[in-house]
Amino acid sequence: MKAITNIHHISAIVGDPQETVDFYRDVLNLRFIKQTVNYDDEYTYHLYFSNQSVDSGSIITFFNWKNAHHGRVGSGQVGTIAFRIPKGSTSYWRDRLTQFGVPIKETKLFNQPTLELLDVHDLALALVESNEFFETPEILGFHGAILLSANPKATAHTLTQDLGLAIAGSSTNYDYFYTKGDARHQIGIPKQPSAKGRWGIGTVHHIAWSVLDEKEQTQWHDYLSQQHYGVTEIKNRNYFQAIYFQEPGNVMFELATDGPGFTIDEPFETLGQRLMLPAHFESRRKEISASLPKLNI
Ligand code: ZN
Repeated sequence: MKAITNIHHISAIVGDPQETVDFYRDVLNLRFIKQTVNYDDEYTYHLYFSNQSVDSGSIITFFNWKNAHHGRVGSGQVGTIAFRIPKGSTSYWRDRLTQFGVPIKETKLFNQPTLELLDVHDLALALVESNEFFETPEILGFHGAILLSANPKATAHTLTQDLGLAIAGSSTNYDYFYTKGDARHQIGIPKQPSAKGRWGIGTVHHIAWSVLDEKEQTQWHDYLSQQHYGVTEIKNRNYFQAIYFQEPGNVMFELATDGPGFTIDEPFETLGQRLMLPAHFESRRKEISASLPKLNI
């Protein structure tokens, strides 16, 4: 199989949707690109954010479980979600986050200086500098993610032997990998597995890897099945097609097609302004919309 070149999106479970919008749009300055519902639970929002130019490899999405319990971060989940910021912009972000009252920790992840923070629902985030300078300090996209594998060796095998990631070396506590595409997304796996995680507010549900199109996705589906992964059938997510499987360290992986993309149902300029429903929910728009908390955008 052709190697995976980049992360497509990462989806997390969080709380109040307005708080998510206020944090990701107003504090992190991401673009709010899609308000829709969870296609498997239409009474829950599914909110999408990206960098300002809506590039692949910058999409973070949220299932807003408003009155739910906090989850437990642990093995079988993505741990920290890392965004890439322009070279030299750490001081800008340190000041900005401090102004907004967001506590930061200065650490080292991916063998690089890192700003670690929690979002408004305690989801673990990190900012890591790119090697390149940019005119504005905006978030460029993902830098990568930490995978809290229950079985680090087996997860490393899946990443390198099946998905085609390369080994980037290791630190005292982590083994590192990267995608071979231009984005060079960085993946870290703690050498020591943590206690088992439990989904709930403040945890990541899955990480999706990019595949070109449905043809390539079908090839992946067949290949992964042959390798004895329990892979789902192809699901239509409107903006992309998706297949899911649990890797041997129990983290949920998705393979998502690059197209058709987020402008399939609304113009680029007004992305995220209006509740977008897939065709099969459209006839119930009034009822679904009334059941969702109002968003001030
Ligand atoms: Zn997904």
